Amino acid sequence: MKILKLGDRGKEVLDVQSRLCSLGYNVGTDGVDGYFGEDTRSAVLTFQQTSGLVADGIVADNTWCELVEAGYKAGERLLYLRIPPFRGADVLSLQKSLNCLGFNAGPEDGIFGQLTERAVLDFQKNSGLVMDGMVDESVLKLMAKVTKDGEPHSAEAKIPDRNGGYAVGRSLADTVIAIDPGHGGDDPGYSGGSLQSEKDLNLKTALLLAKALESLGSTVVMTRTGDTTVPLYERPAIANASGADIFLSIHHNNNGSVRAQGAIGYYFCRQGYFSEAGSVLAQMIVDRLAGELGVNALPVLGRNYAVLRETQMTAVMVEPMFVTGADQDQIDPEKLARLESEAILAGLREYFTS
Ligand SMILES: [Zn+2]
Repeated sequence: MKILKLGDRGKEVLDVQSRLCSLGYNVGTDGVDGYFGEDTRSAVLTFQQTSGLVADGIVADNTWCELVEAGYKAGERLLYLRIPPFRGADVLSLQKSLNCLGFNAGPEDGIFGQLTERAVLDFQKNSGLVMDGMVDESVLKLMAKVTKDGEPHSAEAKIPDRNGGYAVGRSLADTVIAIDPGHGGDDPGYSGGSLQSEKDLNLKTALLLAKALESLGSTVVMTRTGDTTVPLYERPAIANASGADIFLSIHHNNNGSVRAQGAIGYYFCRQGYFSEAGSVLAQMIVDRLAGELGVNALPVLGRNYAVLRETQMTAVMVEPMFVTGADQDQIDPEKLARLESEAILAGLREYFTS
């Protein structure tokens, strides 16, 4: 889609504004007027913040999809398992209701996948309805009797990831790891300083990590092995198709200030659901990176990034360091990649042995 930003006008802006309005956001005194002014921008920012998106006040693909999905109310459309899956606020509410009734609909991620279908079938079976996996009026009516839009729903009632976030009883040797070196090809990522551009650093570390993992017996799947352009949504698709157990995206951070430093990690988080396994793994890797590189361990953050959301396995994104740091001239990229890959491997090992 066309990217919409401050100062834009037109039908598309009108559409964005009316969606924001119906979700309860204030787009200003002139209301839905088709002009992307300051008020619309701040409504977009608030929406992005509450949805776990990067808050930049610009409406591009990711924000647009979230806006559309957030607008679906339960019962507005017939839900069932299909490819690509239905997604949105109505799916999320269905999953919450099913989970709160004790049917395991899987992660509350707003995506109608196989677990959600199985839970619908279980619900239909238990309620004496036709078992067809279709969330039609009969299902919604009955569900409304026992639960109200996923409420009561407390944090304690959440179905946690297996073993509270730990992959107990497995070893790296029988694990499939998908490694995603960020950017590549036409998209260099950050490239401003005297270090190589981000895409090259990401790839260098990823390749070393892949080699080390393979020597331990892991199966490694890469989203790219060279300087190629890989579309954002293809990355999680590659991991999903490979049946990977872990998805690990490698990026490098940048900041306007040369004083910014530290290792950071992200896990999937959206509207009350977060990946416990992802947060545990991200923390372990970040701690190792900080130790190995001699930088701060920044707090790991829950984010609604596409690669974390679309992946079906435990997924983390790490940024070992800022490529805009003051001392970057002294850094040897080869040595950096080696230290980073060793630290990430140590974090993975810890995750699989704790
Ligand atoms: Zn990046």
